[in-house]
Order: sequence, then structure tokens, then C-alpha cells
Amino acid sequence: MAKSFLGEIIVFYKSVNLLIAPANNRKNMSGHTFDLDKNELIKQSFSQMDVHLQGTQYSRAQKLALTCRILFDNGHDSGLAGQITARGEKQGTYLTQRLGLGFDEISAGNLLLVNEDLEVLEGEGMANPANRFHSWLYRARPDVQCIIHTHALHTAALSMLELPLEISHMDNCVLFDDVAFLPKWPGVPVGNEEGELIAQAIGAKRAILLAHHGLLVACSSIEETCLLAMAFERAAKMQLLACAAGTIKPINPELGREAHDWILRSQRSAVGFAYYVRRCLKNNNGDCLE
Ligand SMILES: [Zn+2]
Repeated sequence: MAKSFLGEIIVFYKSVNLLIAPANNRKNMSGHTFDLDKNELIKQSFSQMDVHLQGTQYSRAQKLALTCRILFDNGHDSGLAGQITARGEKQGTYLTQRLGLGFDEISAGNLLLVNEDLEVLEGEGMANPANRFHSWLYRARPDVQCIIHTHALHTAALSMLELPLEISHMDNCVLFDDVAFLPKWPGVPVGNEEGELIAQAIGAKRAILLAHHGLLVACSSIEETCLLAMAFERAAKMQLLACAAGTIKPINPELGREAHDWILRSQRSAVGFAYYVRRCLKNNNGDCLE
């Protein structure tokens, strides 16, 4: 159908106005971001994330229990191996899972509150004695709020090669230059020596690959720690797949760091965690929240 005469006049007026409008009036027009550079677009996206991205409203215990279930559903299911802790409200206290329960059996109600000597302050049962290295790490790193240690399958397989985790794919850049490596296995980490060794080896980084053992992730929120533990296992799986097919090529370090900082925002971690919570609650009946 042909446009009406009035319609044609309106279209003509709009296009002329677009051409002559001053730059500072163009922000409401389509295409106004096309001449912005990457830094400006990143800054703009961060501002939007601050406004639009919301996390979950669960308690710390619920978030920790949900994290156990999420990890279990995503390959962190090596029997009873692995521990997860989060700082309690009082200095020197930590929430953790009861020894003898698998990640798929953890709920907010069966978590323990322990002190740094692993004495139980609240709850039934005992903590895993290997939690001792968590206590060492919390002492060394006041910024850390949550620690996850697992023997996820691909990470465990990679750890047998005594090779560091290689970050060479965009998805894994959340861990770029943020994963330490302990090339020697010191034995089961129930002594103070192992705690000191692991705390020193991770330094200021968020994660470490422990040779002949598994992964450890330590971050400033439960959400971020959960997501990085998931990313770690996926990166290990990718590394094994890529190594089997050829030689891994490194990515540009500057771009890797840019991607790391781009992905690793607290709001992004919160919504990423919320997504995995929804997935988890579809698979489980929500008993982990009780
Ligand atoms: Zn372990």
C-alpha cells in the first residue's frame, strides 16, 4: 500500500532532523552508540548492570547448600571428597558441610558452624578434618568469604599430568591469570603443613590447581566462588579436549585480562548464580533450602 502524503512528510522531517540534530541531542536516537569506543561501551554496560541485575535473596546457609547441589549437578561429584566453607557472622567461624554427607545431600539445615580449629559450634556431627587448609587460607586472605575444594573429574584428570590450567578460551577468561599451580602433591591435607603450603601457593589469586588432587577456589562471595568452581572444571575439560586434538595456542594476555575483568563483576556473578539456582531447583525439590 502506498504511504499517505502526510506519512511521507513525517518520514522526511524525521530524516532531516536526524541529520541536523546536535550530537548531544542524539542519545535518544537509534544508532547513537555506534561511534563509542570499546571502553565507553564497557563503562556504559557496567552502569546498566548496576541498575538492572539483581541477585538472589537466600541466606548464606541456603546459598551454601544450593552451591553444593549446583556443584553436584555439574560434575563435582567425587563421592564424599571435597569441602565447601563460607565465613560465619562471627569472626573465626565458618559454615561447612557435615562429614559423611555428599554434596547432593546438603541442605541449609544440616550445615555445621565450626571455628577455625574445626570444633562444632552449631549442628550435628563433625567437619571434614581436611577443612584445616580452609582455616589457613581464611587467616591469610581476609578478602575471602567462601572456599570450594573439589575433585571434579576433568580437573582431577588434568592434575595427574602435573600441568597448570591453561586459559585460552573466552568462556574461561573469568580465571585468566587468576589460577595458581601447586605442582607437588603434599599428601592428604589434614596437617597444618599442607594448610600453610596451599595458602602460600595460591597467594593473592582466586584459584589454584593442586597436582594429583583437585581444585580450590576462594572468592569474596559465595556466588562468585560457585561460578568460578564451575568455570574451573569446564576449563579443565576444554584443556583435555584441546590437548588431545593438538597444541593449545595462547590468547593475547591484554585481551584475556580485559575479558576477566568484564566477566568478573559482582552483579554478573549474582545473576549467573541465580540462573544456576533456578536450574538446580528444577532438578531438586527445594529440600536443600530447609
Ligand atoms: Zn581434596
